[in-house]
Amino acid sequence: MVDLSLTGRNGEFDKMMPLRGSQPIYLDHHATTPVDPRVASVVMHAMTGAFGNANSIDHAFGEAAGTLIAGASEEVAALVGSAPEYVYFTSGSTEAIGLALVHAIFQGRRSPLRVALTRVEHRAVIDAVAKATRSGQVRPYWIDVDARGRLSPDSLQAALDTGIDLVCLMAANNEVGNIYSVAEIALQIRRSGAKMMVDATQAAGKIPVHARDWEIDYLVVSAHKLYGPKGVGALISPVRDLWSQISDLVWASEGTPNVPGIAGFGEACRLRRIEMDEDESRIAALRDRLQSQLTASIPDMAVNGDLSCRLSGNLHISLPGVPNDALTARLRRKVAISTGSACTSGAHGPSHVLQAMGLSEEHQEGALRIGVGKFNTEDEIDRAAKEIVAAVDAVKASMSGEVR
Ligand code: PLP
Repeated sequence: MVDLSLTGRNGEFDKMMPLRGSQPIYLDHHATTPVDPRVASVVMHAMTGAFGNANSIDHAFGEAAGTLIAGASEEVAALVGSAPEYVYFTSGSTEAIGLALVHAIFQGRRSPLRVALTRVEHRAVIDAVAKATRSGQVRPYWIDVDARGRLSPDSLQAALDTGIDLVCLMAANNEVGNIYSVAEIALQIRRSGAKMMVDATQAAGKIPVHARDWEIDYLVVSAHKLYGPKGVGALISPVRDLWSQISDLVWASEGTPNVPGIAGFGEACRLRRIEMDEDESRIAALRDRLQSQLTASIPDMAVNGDLSCRLSGNLHISLPGVPNDALTARLRRKVAISTGSACTSGAHGPSHVLQAMGLSEEHQEGALRIGVGKFNTEDEIDRAAKEIVAAVDAVKASMSGEVR
C-alpha cells in the first residue's frame, strides 16, 4: 500500500511509487504527467473524508466539499493570475475549449463568427472550429507559422485586418514546445477589438500566466498536465454570468461537482505556484543534458521548434532516415517517448504542426517528441540517452540490411 500521508518532494517520489523501478523511463510529459503524491493524498481525502456532495447545503459534509471547491478555485485562479469567481471547472481543456467557442459564437457580434487560429493549435481547438465551420457558425482564418513554428506579428495583423471576432492562440505548443508571447499578442488583438481564447494547457504551471493582466476573454487549463488528476480542467473567463449563459446554450444544468478531481487540481496548482521556478530550471538542465548527449552520438539529428523560447521539458527531434514508429517500437518497454501528440500518435497521420512548419517528409517521419518532467533524475536521463542512441543504431542497421 502506498502511504498517501507522505508529503515529501521529488526525492521521496520513488518511495511513494513502488512500481516505478520496474517501469520504462517516462519521458512523455506533454501527453500527461504523473500525479504528485501530495496531490493524490488530497484526492484521497476528498474521496474518503470530505466525500459530501458540494450541493448538499444542509449539513457539514456538503459544506466541507464546498470548502474544498472554493479553495481549489482560489488556487487555480492564483496560478493563472485570475480571480476565483472566474473559474469554471470542466472535465478538461477539450471541454473548456468547446464551451468557450459555443459562448463566443452565440454572444458574437455576427454570424458566422470569424475565428482566427494558428495552424499549430491543438486538435481540440482545430476540431471544435472545424465542427462549427461545418455547421456554418464559424468562418475560420488560418494563421501561418514559420519553419520553427513561430508566429509573426505581421501574419497575425494580416488576419486581424480581415475583421476577426475571436483569436484562438495556444500559450505553449504541445509538440515542439514553443512558447508564444501572449502578453504582446494580446495587446495587438485588443487594439483590433477581437476577443481572445488562450489555450494554456501546456503552459500553466510551467511558465507564468497572467489572465487578468493580459485581459484574456477565455483561458483554458487542464489538471493532468501539471501533476494533477485526469478528467478535470477549467475555463477561466471574466465574462459575467458566463456559466448560466453557457448552460442555457447547451441545455445543461449544474450537476454534482467532481470534488476529488477539483480538490486535486487545486492542490496541483498550489504546488506549481510555489515550486514551478525551481522545478522548471532543474527540468531545463535535464533536457539540455539529454539534448547534448543525443547530439553528440547522432550528428544528423535536428532539434525542432523555437530553441530560444520553448518549454523547459521539451525536446522535439527529427532523425532523418529513421522512421519514428520503428524507434518507438524498439523503445516501448524501456523509454516512453512519442511520435507526436497523444491524439495524433494513435491516428498514424502526419503531424499537422510539423506540416505547418514545412518540415521535409524525412524530418516528419523521423520526428520524436520527448518531454522531461519534475520527477525525472539525471540517472534516468543518462540511461534514456543510451537506450535512444542504441535504438537509433539498431534501426539504421536493420534498414541497411545488417541484423542486430
Ligand atoms: N490543448 C493542448 C495544448 C493540449 O496539449 C491538450 C492535451 O493534450 C489539450 C488541449 C486537451 O486537454 P485535455 O486532455 O484536458 O482535454
